[in-house]
Amino acid sequence: MAARLIDGKALALQVRERLATESAAVLAKLGMKPGLATILVGDDPASHLYVKSKQKACEAAGIYIDDHKLPASTTQAELLTLIEKENADPRIHGILVQLPLPKHIDSKVVLEAVSPDKDADGFHPYNFGRLVEGHPVFEACTPKGVIKMIESTGVSIEGKRAVVLGRSNIVGKPLALMLLQRNATVTICHSKTKDLPAVCREAELLLVAIGKAKFVTADMVRDGAVVIDVGTNKTPEGKLCGDVDFDPVSQKAGWISPVPGGVGPMTIAMLLDNTVESAKRRAGLL
Ligand code: NAP
Repeated sequence: MAARLIDGKALALQVRERLATESAAVLAKLGMKPGLATILVGDDPASHLYVKSKQKACEAAGIYIDDHKLPASTTQAELLTLIEKENADPRIHGILVQLPLPKHIDSKVVLEAVSPDKDADGFHPYNFGRLVEGHPVFEACTPKGVIKMIESTGVSIEGKRAVVLGRSNIVGKPLALMLLQRNATVTICHSKTKDLPAVCREAELLLVAIGKAKFVTADMVRDGAVVIDVGTNKTPEGKLCGDVDFDPVSQKAGWISPVPGGVGPMTIAMLLDNTVESAKRRAGLL
C-alpha cells in the first residue's frame, strides 16, 4: 500500500483522552460534569447500538449521561416536552436525538426544538447558519471529524483543491463550508455532476460521502491525494465497507481513511467534543 493510513480509531482515542482532562476542569469549575442527554425513540437495533457506543465513549471521557429510551409509540408532543425539559436542565450541555425517528414524528420540528446552545450534533439551522456566515458555534460531528482527520496528516488545507462528493445537510454541505472556511478551493459534487471522475481527479483533498459501496475507483484519484471515506455500506456478504474502493485507491492516494475504523469513531468523538466545549463555554473556560 502506497498511501499512509488515517487511523480514525486511534485519533478518536486521543480526543477522548484530552476530553477526560477537560471534563475534570469543568467539574472543578462548575461542580458538575459536562452532561449529554441521549434520546432514542423506537426499537431500531442499529440506533440502539450507536447510542450505546456513544454513551460508552462519554463515560470514558467523564461526561454525565441522561439516558432516555422511548417506545416507538411516543408522540411528537411527548418528545418535544422531553426536549424542553432537557433544554432547561442546567446539568445538560448537549442533547442528542438519535436519527432516524419513527415516521409519525417530523425530525425537522424535533431537531429545531433542541436549544441551539445544546445542539451537540450541530444540526440546528441556527448553527448551520453560523457556519455559513463563517462564525460556527456547534459544528456537525461527521464533517468536523473529517476536518480533524485531514489536519492529523499535516497536509495543509489552505489553498488546496478540495472535492466533496455528496451534498447532504449533515455531511457534504457542512464539510464543504468547513473546508472553505479553512481557505480550500471547494467543489461540491452530486448525482447530477457531469464527468465526475475528471472533477475528482483534480482533488488534492477528496472527501467522499454518497453511500455507494466502492464507488470511487483508482482512476478517479489524483496521485498523492488525501482521501477520506465517510460512506458506510454493507457488502453482499454483510461486511461494512466505504464509498471508496480501498485497496486499489490506496495504491494511488497519499493518505487514506479506512472503513471501519475511520470517520465513524471520529464522529462519536466529535459529539463528545461538542458537549465538553458547550460545558466549557458555560464554565467560562473558553
Ligand atoms: P445522503 O443524504 O443519502 O446524500 C448522498 C449524497 O450523495 C447526495 O447529495 C447525492 O446526490 C450524492 N450521490 C448519490 N449518488 C451519487 C452518484 N452516483 N454520484 C455523485 N453523487 C451521488 O447521504 P449522507 O447522509 O450524506 O451519507 C452519505 C454516506 O455517509 C452514507 O453511506 C452514510 O451511511 C454515511 N455516513 C457516515 C457517517 C459516519 O459517522 N461514518 C455519518 C453520516 C453519514 P443528490 O443530492 O444529487 O441526490
